[in-house]
Amino acid sequence: MPVEQALERLLQMADATPISERESLPLGASQGRVLAEDLAATLDLPPWSNSAMDGYALRLADWRGEPLPVTQRIQAGQAPAALAAGSCARIFTGAPLPEGADCVEMQENVEVLADGRVIFREPMTVGDNVRPKGQEMRVGDRVLAAGTRLGPIELGLVASLGLAEIKVVRRPRVAVLSTGDELVEPGQPLGPGQIYNSNRRVLCSWLERLGCEVVDAGILPDDLARTRTQLAGLGDVDLILSTGGVSVGEADFLGVALREEGELALWKLAIKPGKPLTFGHFRGVPVIGLPGNPASTLVTFGLLARPYLLRRLGVRQVQPLQVGVPAGFTWPKPGNRREYLRGRLENGQAVIYPNQSSGVLLSAAWADGLVEVLEGTTVAVGDRVNFIAFSEVLM
Ligand code: AMP
Ligand code: MG
Repeated sequence: MPVEQALERLLQMADATPISERESLPLGASQGRVLAEDLAATLDLPPWSNSAMDGYALRLADWRGEPLPVTQRIQAGQAPAALAAGSCARIFTGAPLPEGADCVEMQENVEVLADGRVIFREPMTVGDNVRPKGQEMRVGDRVLAAGTRLGPIELGLVASLGLAEIKVVRRPRVAVLSTGDELVEPGQPLGPGQIYNSNRRVLCSWLERLGCEVVDAGILPDDLARTRTQLAGLGDVDLILSTGGVSVGEADFLGVALREEGELALWKLAIKPGKPLTFGHFRGVPVIGLPGNPASTLVTFGLLARPYLLRRLGVRQVQPLQVGVPAGFTWPKPGNRREYLRGRLENGQAVIYPNQSSGVLLSAAWADGLVEVLEGTTVAVGDRVNFIAFSEVLM
């Protein structure tokens, strides 16, 4: 199955099971969350016309070129009086423009006479250095659309409207399962044939960044009876996310147990790393089974499970930004799956980690993102390849 098709099917299923419960949160607790409803401007911004410069405010229409006396001084935070006819006002950046003024001349362009009057020497036009009321937004304008993820910029916008709380979609609850007899948690001694469970840490940290409530469902041994009991013990979750044991291997007990009480499709994705992926339901709860090799888990979570989860929260734009960059490596053998090589940009070119084995998580730590090599293509130095920065997917 091509990657696009897998993503399209996942997004369709996400659209069919949106998480729609919402909650009001203080801005400081809303980072990374998804806006639950369109946000309309509750104020004009700026609320009043103000000066963009330190300088002098005047009414150009009434001015004949004569030096003007200064009749008031307006600092940011002050409420000015109307501008007296035949005068100007000393004004500072962010201070309200006095009624009657229509232009601000910056202080560098004027000469102040000994008697305090101001000579304007440079040509001026109405509106110079004035930030007009409502130039950024007007009451009722749509500022942010439902489904927007709230980062520093969006939260800053909400703050600029004076709102202390915002309606967000509730956190999704995601159960993380790691399968495999070989897995041991960090901190425990390593027995023969065992490895430490790294996928769990990757996924739990990543899910937390995505604003999920993580239910750590532990390690599932390669044993049908124990897999059944552990699954039955899962509480109320929105998604079960597992790693490992999804190939057609004989130890695919998770698949067996899930099929008994739900349905499960095994997809062979045209993606490398990360060929096998399962999607299904267990007692009505969606299940995504990612391949267990650490680099495969990373790629399939980032490119498929992450967009799926965000879409369930109502996010429309779920795909990471890709940029075309010249390749600084060669890829002489065309593959029949789309490859996502762990790479980074050096001197404006994409270079790749020498060991692209799906078991090597270090490749991703060295890298700054994924370099896409399309099915059936080779790459020569200088060819354009797509680069997806990890910063695009890890948040
Ligand atoms: P599987 O998909 O279960 O066949 O596992 C594929 C490879 O990934 C095997 O080498 C596993 O030992 C390894 N693996 C599976 N799960 C994890 C995990 N949670 N952490 C680290 N490696 C894993
Ligand atoms: Mg396994």
